[in-house]
Amino acid sequence: MSLTFYIPNDSSRHSVEFLRRKRAVLGARAFARGFQQKAISDAELLFPHFESCIVPGAAPEDLVSREWLFVAGLDLSGQGRRGTCLLVLGVSPGAKRIRVPVDVQFGAWSGQQIARQVAYALRRWNVRHTKIETNALQGTIIEMLELEDPTLELSGFTTSWNKRDPELGLPSLDREFERLQWRIPHPHYDTPDCQCDFCTWIRQMRNYPAVDNSDGVMACWFAREAAVELGPGLEDIVDTEEEEEFGQWRWSVRRGERNSWSLGTVRERTWRLR
Ligand SMILES: [Zn+2]
Repeated sequence: MSLTFYIPNDSSRHSVEFLRRKRAVLGARAFARGFQQKAISDAELLFPHFESCIVPGAAPEDLVSREWLFVAGLDLSGQGRRGTCLLVLGVSPGAKRIRVPVDVQFGAWSGQQIARQVAYALRRWNVRHTKIETNALQGTIIEMLELEDPTLELSGFTTSWNKRDPELGLPSLDREFERLQWRIPHPHYDTPDCQCDFCTWIRQMRNYPAVDNSDGVMACWFAREAAVELGPGLEDIVDTEEEEEFGQWRWSVRRGERNSWSLGTVRERTWRLR
């Protein structure tokens, strides 16, 4: 049996396998735009300001240093699909609490594998606190993690009504992106089809909610909640005029100019340093 799709506004015919591959490579949003003639406007995206935090070509290690604090979020799913996600977030020790994702891992792991993999990543970054989604798997995972490493600090996070809450839920993440409180390293910026875990997470964030899987978005939210518990962030000082040495370049937040440096500035400086 041969199946073909007829694409509107396109005279060519594509096999189901071709389309499936394209969709996997492009992601749901780009596929919808390119192959299904469905435009997804920025207004439909939950994180329209995510892009402005991306630092093209930067590796996580370029943007954080040892004295930073590290927290993590863990989204759990069953073994059936590659939907368990760990995201480790660096938080600057200064008053701004700048957030830099440094490690993202997806897996279809069993409980024991999760425990081993997660405990290793948490130790590697000296993570001080991990928020774990509260679901049926949570109790077992926490027990196994504690067996792997009794020094890990773990707590649960329950998602339900709070997911869409503008102050606490996912929309509040975009407010942090808008204030440029995040720096998103994107070492594979020039390879938009990259399927590595970090790039997969970036695609989920860029396209949410027009995505097939949102495990990375959830893990990011849990990690941010752990970061919030470290203390006040940028919002408390955004009205003050000050300069801060950040990574390898200087940037400033000026009174009344929320986005006082543009993405172009960051890119230009990053490129000059290479
Ligand atoms: Zn990549």
